[in-house]
Amino acid sequence: MGTELVQISSSVPAQPRECPEPGPRANPGSLGTSAEGSAKTFYIETFGCQMNVHDSEKVAGVLMSRGYQPVGSHEEAEIVLYNTCSIREKAAQKVFSRLGAFKKRGSGAAKVIGVLGCVAQQEGERFFERAPQVSLVCGSASYTKLPELLDQLESGRRRVSGLDLDTDECFETELTRRDNPCRAYLTIIEGCDQRCSFCVVPMTRGPERSRSSHKILEECRRLVDGGFTEIQLLGQIVNAWQDPAPQGLSFAELLVRVAEVPGLRRVRFTTSHPRYFTTDIIRAIEANPTLCDQVHLPAQSGSTSVLARMLRRYTREEYLEKTHCIQSARRAISLSTDIIVGFCGETQEDFEQTLSLLEEVQFDQVFSFKYSPRPRTAALGLEDTVPDEEKGRRLAELQEVQRRIQLRRYQALVGQDVEVLVEGYQPRTGQAVGRTTSNRVVNFSGSPEDVGRYLTVRVTSAGPNSLVGECTDRKGDSRPVPRARIGALPIGDSSGSALSGGAHGN
Ligand code: SAM
Repeated sequence: MGTELVQISSSVPAQPRECPEPGPRANPGSLGTSAEGSAKTFYIETFGCQMNVHDSEKVAGVLMSRGYQPVGSHEEAEIVLYNTCSIREKAAQKVFSRLGAFKKRGSGAAKVIGVLGCVAQQEGERFFERAPQVSLVCGSASYTKLPELLDQLESGRRRVSGLDLDTDECFETELTRRDNPCRAYLTIIEGCDQRCSFCVVPMTRGPERSRSSHKILEECRRLVDGGFTEIQLLGQIVNAWQDPAPQGLSFAELLVRVAEVPGLRRVRFTTSHPRYFTTDIIRAIEANPTLCDQVHLPAQSGSTSVLARMLRRYTREEYLEKTHCIQSARRAISLSTDIIVGFCGETQEDFEQTLSLLEEVQFDQVFSFKYSPRPRTAALGLEDTVPDEEKGRRLAELQEVQRRIQLRRYQALVGQDVEVLVEGYQPRTGQAVGRTTSNRVVNFSGSPEDVGRYLTVRVTSAGPNSLVGECTDRKGDSRPVPRARIGALPIGDSSGSALSGGAHGN
């Protein structure tokens, strides 16, 4: 899923909530305490996609259920965890520069430093040699073992690792910290079996494993009880979900059941693979206004021969057939996509086909990347023919084409009334920021009390990435009061984090 890399410091979040799951809790008095008996403190820095952001929320939940306390910076924390992303080389390098900076400042000595996620899985125990200050290395497929690894650290082991990829378990937590005050993430499928030739995910997140429909629906109900009205279902290939429960729901049926949970106003899902994007998903969206008017459908390229080398298993024509179906739905559904430029063997003509795909589909948002060769992927067997400079040139051209498309599309909305869920407020500018069901960002003059409300805003002007408007109906819904919150921060601090998580995931 295509967010530009977002870096989210998820230590003391804006208006976070905890959604406890049933079951026994560790006694916070006995674990996670320092020598003086006070609670140990932790800080998690997250790189990458929504799945990583949500994994960090779950890891934070595991730590908090053991009595650890979140703090606002590396400096204050006794345990510092980096949840890493290795989707592109630049992303993977970030953790090494963080660890280097720590070493230079000499500030890591008294801390436990852990590396989680995709780079942890990729580098494994080599981390201990490359960065001797690291004590914990754990890939996402081993998060179920985190409590055990923490026990080992607490009993004095210097170095522990969880790197087993061969798992059929999902990461279920007794407690999940919720860092976004308006939108709750909910993983329905972990891992990936697709083996696209450019993509490292199957090697870092392990095989596909789906959560059962009853667990998903139970979590949805708990989230609504906790005050959430918007849920985003997550998976590397969210629509490859298969119900392991006896009900055997299809993905479209699951969407309908989630949409029917009383109290939910908005349901999003990401990332969909075109190959599994069936018409029953479109029918489900048409019939259930709770399912948002938005589909993120990564194309990766507009050229059938590039798609074949990428092992995407669809052609340009098949992709276009899916988008035409989506665009002929009974209500307008906004489309976004991911594009890789400069993949192995991509010619100027292939690239032009990608540009023409953008013109033909008229996406509302495109996340675009230069191809970055990744370890253990099939594409390493192909020649990386496009020089970096040319990849950069193609990327800039593509982004300019898309900028013009978006500007046109956004300007066509001027004068319309849209419903937004207000996600943040900036006291400095007096601006509130909300999101429409079709995932467009709208700025308008607001107040801190607007956050969490659904308001009607008339669009008055438009840029290529966001809209500006005036609130025409301030009655709105009153903000649901969350039943459980931890350490609320002023609302003004929430606007950045609520939006910086990006719209579409990984
Ligand atoms: N699982 C999703 C799928 O297959 O559609 C995509 C998830 S991925 C984390 C997000 C996006 O990063 C991809 O859709 C792709 O556009 C981009 N990406 C993945 N591997 C890449 C690579 N080696 N170089 C450049 N971009 C890459």
